Amino acid sequence: MKIQDIQAVQELLSTPKKIAIIPHRGPDGDAMGSTLGLYHFLLKNHHYPTVISPNEFPDFLAWMPGADKIKIYEKDRENCTALLQEAELIFTLDFNALHRTGEMENVLAQLQSPFIMIDHHQNPDDYAAVTYSDTSFGSTCEMLYNFITALGKKDDIDFTIGTCIYTGILTDSGSFKFPKTTGTTHRIVAELIDLGVQNTEIPSLLFDNSSYGRLQILGRALQNMIIYPKFKTAYTTLTQEELNSFNYVKGDTEGIVNYGLSIQGIHFAAIFIENKEEKIIKISFRSQGDFDVNQFAREHFNGGGHRNAAGGKSELTMEETQKKFEDLLTKISI
Ligand code: 5GP
Ligand code: MN
Repeated sequence: MKIQDIQAVQELLSTPKKIAIIPHRGPDGDAMGSTLGLYHFLLKNHHYPTVISPNEFPDFLAWMPGADKIKIYEKDRENCTALLQEAELIFTLDFNALHRTGEMENVLAQLQSPFIMIDHHQNPDDYAAVTYSDTSFGSTCEMLYNFITALGKKDDIDFTIGTCIYTGILTDSGSFKFPKTTGTTHRIVAELIDLGVQNTEIPSLLFDNSSYGRLQILGRALQNMIIYPKFKTAYTTLTQEELNSFNYVKGDTEGIVNYGLSIQGIHFAAIFIENKEEKIIKISFRSQGDFDVNQFAREHFNGGGHRNAAGGKSELTMEETQKKFEDLLTKISI
C-alpha cells in the first residue's frame, strides 16, 4: 500500500464511524472472508460496521463468523438503502466496478461518503477515495491481512478475523495451488494457524458438504463435456431443465469448470449454465498458462476476472452461445 493511502485510511478511521462493507453480487469465499474479516476488525476498533451483500450468500458459507449479521440488499432494499445512505464510509471488497453489485449499483453511485476499495482484479474503476488494487495477489483476503498490518494493527488479527482471512485465501487459491500462491501466502496462513484457525475443519466445512443433487449435477456436467484437443479446450453445459431435475440450489455448480482443466493437454475450460430467471447463460472460464481468459471474457462475453479465472454472460440461447464459443475457438490461439 502507498504511504499516503495508509495515512488517508488512518485519518478516515481515526474516529468511530458508521461503515458499510460491500462484497460483489454472488459472494464467494474470498468476498465473504474479506468483508467479514474487515467487519470484525472495525468492530474491534469501535466503529459501527454493517456488511451489506447485494444478494444472498451460498449456504456453504453460512457458518462464517458474522454471516448471520449480513444484510441482503435484494431481500430488504429499504433498510439497506437507508444503511448505505447513513454510512460515513463505504468499503468495497473483492470487486472493482460498481456494476458487480447488480441493481445496488444505482444506490452506491449516488452516495456522497468516501469509498475505500480493496481488490485484486484487473482494471479498477475510478470511484474510490482510496484504491488498494493489486492483481499480483491471489485473494482479497491476503490483501486485507496486508491492509490491517499496514495500519499498524496486526495484533488485532485474532482467531475470528483469522478464520475469515484463511477462508478467502484457501478458496481463491484453489487450496493453495493457483500460481499466485507465494511463500508469503503460506507464511500468513502459518500465522493464522498459530492463532488457532482450524485448517482441517474449515476445508471440510467448505468442500465436504455436498448434497446428492450436487453430485448428480456434477455427473451430468461431466457427461455433457465436449473436448477439442486441437484447441486444447474442454467445455460443458448445464441447462435450467437439467439443474431443476437434480433439485439445484445455489452454489451447486461451483468449481465444476475446473474439471475440464484436469484433462491432459487441456489448457482452456468453460462452463455454460442456463439461468432462465435472469434470461442469461452464465459462463465461467478457466485457463492454465498464458491464455488470458479475463481478456477473452471481456471481449466476447461481457465479463472479466483474472488471467486464469474469469466469467461472463450471454443473452443468446444455449445453442447460439455454444456456436459463438466454438467459432471463437478457431480464431484464437491457446
Ligand atoms: P467464477 O467463474 O468463479 O464465477 O468467477 C471467476 C472470476 O471471474 C472471479 O474472480 C469473478 O470475480 C470474475 N467474474 C465472474 N463473472 C464475472 C462477470 O460477469 N463479470 C466480471 N467482470 N467478472 C466476472
Ligand atoms: Mn477474490
